Amino acid sequence: MINSFLRFYVIGDPIEHSLSPLMQNFFLDKFKIKGEYAAKRIKFNELDEAIESLVKEGVTGINVTTPHKKAVLKYIDEFTPEAETIGSVNTIKIESGKLIGHNTDAIGFQNSLRVLGHSFKNKNAFILGSGGAARAVAVALIREQCQRIVISNRNLEKAKKMVKDFLQRSTAIEIETVPITSNEIDSIIKSSQLLVNATTVGMGDLSDDSILANTGCLHKDLLVYDLIYRPYKTKLLHQAESYNSSWINGLDMLILQGIESLKFWVEQDLRLNDSIYSAIKNMLRREVCQE
Ligand code: NAP
Repeated sequence: MINSFLRFYVIGDPIEHSLSPLMQNFFLDKFKIKGEYAAKRIKFNELDEAIESLVKEGVTGINVTTPHKKAVLKYIDEFTPEAETIGSVNTIKIESGKLIGHNTDAIGFQNSLRVLGHSFKNKNAFILGSGGAARAVAVALIREQCQRIVISNRNLEKAKKMVKDFLQRSTAIEIETVPITSNEIDSIIKSSQLLVNATTVGMGDLSDDSILANTGCLHKDLLVYDLIYRPYKTKLLHQAESYNSSWINGLDMLILQGIESLKFWVEQDLRLNDSIYSAIKNMLRREVCQE
């Protein structure tokens, strides 16, 4: 049992629309952990001083979001094996002034498949994107023992780098890349059971856009998983629905990566039972849909 009052932050810019404070304060309350989680807007060129002052303040944990995900790596004193594997950090624990970098996105994604009753063992997956989230999804799908994973990205070199990094760890799974403009994409999607959008196309300024150029390849045996949760239903998910593909947005992953961050910070085995899970999911959905 922790008796001191703990402080946590999500840092980024912009940050005012982050759902993390609402979600994490709900968890703190449910699990009777004395503490507070807040959003802190930190401009790109102010990261140095901000990290220093968070350490001085005695903050326990930080979640990191755009644009600091890469820049923050230089402050990390120690990476967890999971952060090493994924090659990206979304969660930091500060322990006696030392920054420990961790990543909860892969486990969050994997647990969301489990919670929603999906398994992709021996199935084919297509991932769009090659940033931190896409890398976490690839790690999760390797663990899920997919048969084949194809990765596409606007910057193909980043996708190739991902494949190079992960092939070293898994020889049993076919992992390939395809250029985002390739005609092959249609047939890849037709022979896939899972399509993941791990790009930012579909949110913010790009919320009227879909990462998919052709939608005729969508099919009823495909699960379209968009990591975006704001808007609740992206253009891609509307397209999926119109082709009878099933779909998932990013809310389940958000919840399940979030609880993993809190577990890492407080070193407690916090379990989301059905009632806590549906309460937080409904709360976040209401928040997203009221816009
Ligand atoms: P990131 O590292 O910045 O990667 C962004 C990705 O989007 C890159 O692959 C980038 O391609 C691609 N992209 C950006 N603009 C594009 C455009 N106009 N056309 C085509 N591709 C474009 O971001 P991230 O952290 O991986 O996050 C990716 C998405 O996942 C975001 O929407 C984020 O909100 C979501 N996410 C959700 C959760 C969750 O819990 N639900 C967790 C993490 C992330 P290039 O490499 O070519 O630039």
